[in-house]
Amino acid sequence: MNKTDIIVIGAGPVGLFTVFEAGLLGLNCTLIDNLDKPGGQCAELYPEKPIYDIPGVPFQTAQEHVNALLEQIKPFDYELHLSERVDTMEEINHENETFWRVKTTENKEFISKNIFIAAGAGSFEPRRPPNIENPDKFINKGVEYAVRSIDKYRDKNVFIFGGGDSALDWTVELSKTAKSISLVHRRDAFRGAQHTEELMRNLVKKDKVQLLTPYLIDSIIGNDCVESITLKNFETNEIEPYDANELIFLFGLNKKLGPILEWDLDLNGKKITVNTENYQTSKDGIFAVGDINDYPGKLDLILSGFHETTLAVQEAYKRIFPGERVPFGYTTSNSKLQEKLGVKK
Ligand SMILES: Cc1cc2nc3c(=O)[nH]c(=O)nc-3n(C[C@H](O)[C@H](O)[C@H](O)COP(=O)(O)OP(=O)(O)OC[C@H]3O[C@@H](n4cnc5c(N)ncnc54)[C@H](O)[C@@H]3O)c2cc1C
Repeated sequence: MNKTDIIVIGAGPVGLFTVFEAGLLGLNCTLIDNLDKPGGQCAELYPEKPIYDIPGVPFQTAQEHVNALLEQIKPFDYELHLSERVDTMEEINHENETFWRVKTTENKEFISKNIFIAAGAGSFEPRRPPNIENPDKFINKGVEYAVRSIDKYRDKNVFIFGGGDSALDWTVELSKTAKSISLVHRRDAFRGAQHTEELMRNLVKKDKVQLLTPYLIDSIIGNDCVESITLKNFETNEIEPYDANELIFLFGLNKKLGPILEWDLDLNGKKITVNTENYQTSKDGIFAVGDINDYPGKLDLILSGFHETTLAVQEAYKRIFPGERVPFGYTTSNSKLQEKLGVKK
C-alpha cells in the first residue's frame, strides 16, 4: 500500500499545479488519471487551441501550457499513475491514525491524509462500438481504445475504426509496421486533418492501407483473443468476414463523473460543494479543486483552480503537521525549491 502526503485524483492543469504548491511545502503527491497522458481537458480536448488568460503568459497553446506545468513540477517528488481510474474511496485506520484509502481500476491502493479531487468534468471514457455486446471482454486480447505501444501491432492484421484525427494518424503510423492495416468508417468522409487524410488516401492507392467505407463492425469472433471479425457493408447490407488480430476503436471520449457521485460528498448537481477558505468538501481531508468544485461565484477557469489548490495545500499541510506553522514564503526564498533547482546562495 503506497502512503503519500496528498493523493491527487486527476492530472489536469489543476492537479499538476497541486504538485508544485505541495512541493513548496515539502509535501509529496501521487497523481492518478484515467487518461494515458497528463493535461486533462487541455491535452485531450484542445491541445492546439491558444490560451490567453494565464497570468504573465500572453499566449500558449493548451499543450504548451501542460508542458510548462510538467517542467515547473520537475524539481519535486511525485508519482504519476496513468490509464487508471480511481473507483473507491474509504476512511481507514492505519497505525492508529485516520487515513483515506483509494483503489484504482488497476487494483492499486494508495493511502493519504489528504485527497485532492481535481477531476474536472469527470473521467474521460472511450466510446465503445455501440452494436457489440461487451467488447471489453477482449481488452488486451485484441481490442483497444488507444494505442499505447506501437510495437504491439508489428506484423499483425490491424483494424482501426473511426473518422477523426486519431484514426487517421494511427492508420498512417501503424501502416509502417503492421502486417496489414484497414481503416473502417461508416462514411467516406473524415473529420481529421486534411493533410493526414491525403497521406492515408495515398497509402490506399499504394495498397499499404485497406479503406473500408461505408462499413460498421458487426461482430468480433474469438475464444481467448480476437481471431476474426465481420463487418457490415452499408451500401450492400452484406456481412463480410475478415481475419483480424488487433482492433483499435477510436470513437472519441465521453466525460463521466462515474464513481465520484458515489463517494457520499455534498454535491450541487454534478459538482462537489466546497468552502472557499480551504476548498475542503463535506468530509475532512477531502478537497475538491478546479472545474469539479462548486461555490458561490465559481468560474471554470484554469486560473481559479490554481488559486483554489494553493489554499487547499495549506490546509493539507496542517492536517499532516497539526499545530505547526505553515512555512509560507515567496518562491525566491523557498529553500526547498532553491535546493531542488540547485540555486547557489
Ligand atoms: C474547448 C475548451 C477551451 C477552454 N479554454 C480555456 C481557456 O482559454 N482558459 C481557461 O482558463 N480555461 C479554458 N478552458 C477550461 C479549462 O480547460 C478547465 O478549466 C481546466 O481544464 C480545468 O482543469 P482541471 O485540472 O480542474 O480538470 P481537467 O482538465 O478536466 O482534468 C481532470 C482530469 O481528471 C481525470 N479524472 C476524472 N475523474 C477521475 C477518476 N475517478 N480517476 C482518475 N482520473 C480522473 C480526467 O481524466 C482528467 O484528465 C477551456 C475548456 C474547453 C473545453
